[in-house]
Amino acid sequence: MAAKGKENRILVTLACNECKERNYITSKNKRNDPERLELRKYCPRCRQPRPHRETK
Ligand SMILES: [Zn+2]
Repeated sequence: MAAKGKENRILVTLACNECKERNYITSKNKRNDPERLELRKYCPRCRQPRPHRETK
């Protein structure tokens, strides 16, 4: 496994704000996005688009 670049890219889990279901895993650049990510995505549990927030 070749480590390219710096260690700023980390994996984050995105959880639905409504039901807290963890629906998505993505990566972000810790330096560019020090804040918590929040993305509007489809939640299969709510069966509609919901804001999803980064969770640890
Ligand atoms: Zn949901």
